[in-house]
Amino acid sequence: MELIFATQNINKAKEIQALVPKTIAIKTLQEIGCNEDVPETAPTLEGNAKQKSDYVFEHYKVNCFADDTGLEIDVLNGEPGVFSARYAGPQRDSNDNMDLVLKKLKGNSNRKARFKTVISLILNGENHTFEGVVNGTIIEEKSGMEGFGYDPIFKPDGFDSTFSEMSMEDKNSISHRGIAVRKLVEFLSNKVSY
Ligand code: IMP
Repeated sequence: MELIFATQNINKAKEIQALVPKTIAIKTLQEIGCNEDVPETAPTLEGNAKQKSDYVFEHYKVNCFADDTGLEIDVLNGEPGVFSARYAGPQRDSNDNMDLVLKKLKGNSNRKARFKTVISLILNGENHTFEGVVNGTIIEEKSGMEGFGYDPIFKPDGFDSTFSEMSMEDKNSISHRGIAVRKLVEFLSNKVSY
């Protein structure tokens, strides 16, 4: 069967293709001729993931899923949350975003935060949601060269290094996205037997 991933990012799609049973072919929006911007205007990660999967299902009537991820910081009342990609402005620059977080947390001893990924799947017209969360701390200064986004300032609980100081394999084995994707894959493996 074909399963459409509501993303234009071919690398994200490849990553998931490597994890799902071989009977499932993951396709991107481009591959089904969807080149328009899929709306993502909900106030929550859950809402955005659902909005994207609903849009693709309504317009293309295909089995599909969408994801949304954000960094939630306790003392910032859950910010940057749904605004994680564009926290410091429309330039969507990771360094600017991290600088803004560090500025807002300056002098604050409560630096608790979490990454959360929500995946919304529509399979045979039914909606299913999968969530992955990793708790951690925002450190005082950026550290590490790997990864992307807020990785250099996020230290997962139980580890001495930031996401950015870990290999991609080590990060994926504990990350929000890794957890959510494994839940999706387990569900699909049990559900899809053809
Ligand atoms: P998306 O929903 O996967 O596009 O993620 C939205 C934004 O959250 C990204 O642009 C990053 O700023 C941030 N983000 C998502 N996942 C990660 C991660 O694994 N590490 C660091 N930042 C992330």
